[in-house]
Amino acid sequence: MSKKYLFEKELQMSENNITCAECGSKKVNTTWEDNEFLYGEIKIKVKVPARQCSICKFQFLDWESEDIMGKAVDDYLKEKE
Ligand SMILES: [Zn+2]
Repeated sequence: MSKKYLFEKELQMSENNITCAECGSKKVNTTWEDNEFLYGEIKIKVKVPARQCSICKFQFLDWESEDIMGKAVDDYLKEKE
């Protein structure tokens, strides 16, 4: 059985400190995108800051996305209790 769990939270952006993981450029744009991931059998939906380098067009997710996904799991577990 799976349940859909919604979690949306916008963290303060830290765009100034982002460096492209591919070419090292600091010209990286952020767009907030929906992302779904599985936690066990639970599907958790979050909004994550997707980065795209404006120089080499490389797209990536960084620690901030992982942080958001980790917090979504924490919130889910808290709500479950
Ligand atoms: Zn780049």
